Amino acid sequence: MPMKSIASFNRIAPAARWSFSSVVQRCLLVVPLGIGSLATNSFADEGMYPISELERLQLPQKGLALQPSEIFNPDQVSLVDGICRVNGCTGSFVSDQGLIITNHHCAFDAIQKVSTADKDYLTSGFVSRSHVEELPAAGYTVRITEQYEDVSAKVLSSVDASMSATDRTKAIDKRRKELEKEAETKHPGLRAEVAEMFTGKTYVLFLYTYLKDIRLVFAPPASVGAFGGETDNWEWPRHTGDFSFLRAYTTPDGSSAEYSPDNIPYRPKRFIQVNPQGAEEEDFVFILGYPGRTLRQRTASYFEFEQQIRLPEIVRYYSWQMQEMEKAGAQDRSVALNHATRYKSLANVEKRSRGQLLGLTRTGLIETRRQEEEKLKKFIASDPALEKRFGGVLERIGDVYAEINRSAKQEIALRELRTACRLFSFAFTIVDAVHERQKEDLERESPYMDRNLPLTTKQLQLDIADWHPDTDRIFLRGLIDILNGFPQDSLSPRIVKWLDSIDTSDESLKSWMASTRIGDASFAVKCLEMTPEQLSALNDPALQAMLSLYPEYLRLRELDKEREGKLNPLYGELQDVKQKFQADAFVPDANATLRLTYGRVRGYSPADAVIRTPISTLRGVLEKTTGIEPFISPKEVIQKAKQKEFGPFVHPRLKDVPVAILYNTDTTGGNSGSPVLNHKGELVAVNFDRTFEATINDFAWNESYSRSIGVDVRYVLWITGIVYGADHLLKEMGL
Ligand code: ASP
Repeated sequence: MPMKSIASFNRIAPAARWSFSSVVQRCLLVVPLGIGSLATNSFADEGMYPISELERLQLPQKGLALQPSEIFNPDQVSLVDGICRVNGCTGSFVSDQGLIITNHHCAFDAIQKVSTADKDYLTSGFVSRSHVEELPAAGYTVRITEQYEDVSAKVLSSVDASMSATDRTKAIDKRRKELEKEAETKHPGLRAEVAEMFTGKTYVLFLYTYLKDIRLVFAPPASVGAFGGETDNWEWPRHTGDFSFLRAYTTPDGSSAEYSPDNIPYRPKRFIQVNPQGAEEEDFVFILGYPGRTLRQRTASYFEFEQQIRLPEIVRYYSWQMQEMEKAGAQDRSVALNHATRYKSLANVEKRSRGQLLGLTRTGLIETRRQEEEKLKKFIASDPALEKRFGGVLERIGDVYAEINRSAKQEIALRELRTACRLFSFAFTIVDAVHERQKEDLERESPYMDRNLPLTTKQLQLDIADWHPDTDRIFLRGLIDILNGFPQDSLSPRIVKWLDSIDTSDESLKSWMASTRIGDASFAVKCLEMTPEQLSALNDPALQAMLSLYPEYLRLRELDKEREGKLNPLYGELQDVKQKFQADAFVPDANATLRLTYGRVRGYSPADAVIRTPISTLRGVLEKTTGIEPFISPKEVIQKAKQKEFGPFVHPRLKDVPVAILYNTDTTGGNSGSPVLNHKGELVAVNFDRTFEATINDFAWNESYSRSIGVDVRYVLWITGIVYGADHLLKEMGL
């Protein structure tokens, strides 16, 4: 179906026309005082702003040569129409033929899935010379924001003060699903999602176009796209060409459909113009994208939980799994390929967690937050009316975290059992789907609702295709050992009984894994359709194991809902009183909805006597290239760099091809692949990372240490055009 624009949405439902400002003002969270201070700050500000907030930011005074309405205008096509979400990342349309630029690490899974030991596109890179050579990116979707509406009142009308915490979570959840279903019926072809903007307070319904036929167009070799590997990940200076091109396709009538050879390139309403001149130090830049999640409004008690339990546990579990995958893949490239996507994502989070642990200590965040909270408590106590309404709110939040802390390590271990051990992850999906499908659609957990089941099924098939039983056996045994290491009385009797029943000898686990049939994707998919009775009658060992553990996982799910039900209204109260206390401008935490952040290309000083400049060049690629992983460069890159075959992509001052740039915007995961735009809204880089110090951004942003990293457009064009000869793509982008 033809896409409806935001403009048409406004015609359809003028009463529902939503302004984020009105929501914010209703919450009294942004007040003129804060905005005034924003206006005078010429550097950058904390904030991933919802796109409807742009007028307030006074961007033209800060260097933008566009009017905010050219970036976002609910009544006309504007720059945001050229931005899309690519799975968990962001991308930009860079031609009128649906060509998308995003990161290599965002396209990584697609490249891995089409690679084999013989045709290894991760190693060699992939260049399609025409549309017919483009390869399906299995499991990829592209989402474009079309419309939005404030539905806070509708969501919150489903709850009242008499409800238990669990019932409150369930009621909100159900109401959100009802609204999504209603909206999808009203706007066939669009997908609806209700996002929580301010915890427990404001909800916005977004309508998206979802494109499902996505194809791989161009990827540099991983020795360019992931140059420096995990050694350089989250670091500056950086020399990684972290970009790839994809293309979205639709049916000939323009509607969204699964892959078909008859599909045609998608025609975006707007595409982003690439500017081959890139950016210079101190230039104004802004980023549009879909930042995933930040936790800046959390309390000191939450950050303590992160510091003492969650982050160290992640580092421990993930580094162990990474080591095992490295060993397994060392001798056999096809095994390494099976593990590649998972390895990369674990490694990314593991190093980020280490950065966050360091950041918590370095910034003294917990202590600072505690001092702020002490002042807030005094403020509340100073007024009987405030005391009556908000007294004890911080203590009550602290009580919930204290309860979470008590069993957190055991819960993390149980969750790892059904994620690290892939067989248990498949078994869980099957058992959960079969039980949930017995319920009414709206009562089900989201992955099993009719609208989501095809995606869940596809993901299960793709995951099974990468299953490697030998590594999985190591994970299963390791997790059983970890669970056995807890005092018995800290685990539920059901878990203890299951642990007692397992023979962890290699032989036994081997034959146990060999006798399950769910490693066969077509069988697993058939299982999804069964009733609980049919599933149990199969007597499949992996499914039997999961059936006996399942009640425990249900208990954990209920516990999560209960905690969420307690915390959400408390955080809502906290925001209210904080606003009364410190008339301050603060914006909602990231929640995977479209946001803008802005700043300047700028270096920083991460430590005493250390100064980092903000543009890296090809010279650095050559300097880092040792020929030893992860610092191997393709010979064609080395050759062209040494011969200074730079073409028009030279930085006039540095007399070299710029590779990456650094800027002081406010980004997080999900901003990977976001366009870095100059003052005219042209693409000058593609965001892909942050510095090690900036990993703490997710909890607290600060201009002195928060820096994001993008691959310079000149490196993108040099690699694509000059090194790998894909001039047709440059032409397609109008260059
Ligand atoms: N490289 C990052 C990621 O993968 C992007 C970021 O968090 O800034 O999540």
